[in-house]
Amino acid sequence: MALLTIRTYPDPVLREVAAPISDITDTIRKLADDMLETMKLSNGAGLAANQVGIPVRLIVIDGHLNPENRPLMLINPTIVSMEAEVVAEEGCLSVPRYYEFIKRAKKVIVEAMDLDKKPFEISCEGPLAKAFQHEIDHLNGILFIDYLSPVKKSIFKKQYSKIKK
Ligand code: ZN
Repeated sequence: MALLTIRTYPDPVLREVAAPISDITDTIRKLADDMLETMKLSNGAGLAANQVGIPVRLIVIDGHLNPENRPLMLINPTIVSMEAEVVAEEGCLSVPRYYEFIKRAKKVIVEAMDLDKKPFEISCEGPLAKAFQHEIDHLNGILFIDYLSPVKKSIFKKQYSKIKK
């Protein structure tokens, strides 16, 4: 396994809309393994391929968020249902050392393919639902800071320029 470099805001790759994966090649499998390793070593709960500079529709989620307690790797994930709202604190490996409360759907249903190209569906709520929404946003070039109010955004920009130094 190889450790990948996590791209940080304002790297333009984080704004790219990731391309669908049509073929699950060994390169994709290796990318998924490397992303999982990179995420764990960075103490992240999830990671999208854009964040390691490869804009394809692949996300990984840490096992501790999964009731089945195994890591999740999702190819071409889409949210097919959202229900209710909840506000919870979020952070992002691509926006280091910044945390803010963000409103998300409380429950989601996600459809995706696994690494054997088998389609599956996950219905969930709580931290896993939050992680899916956050990571799938990445695939669409969206960051959690995009949801900040204009005032919070300007405070963020000032703070972040200091953090980045
Ligand atoms: Zn993130």
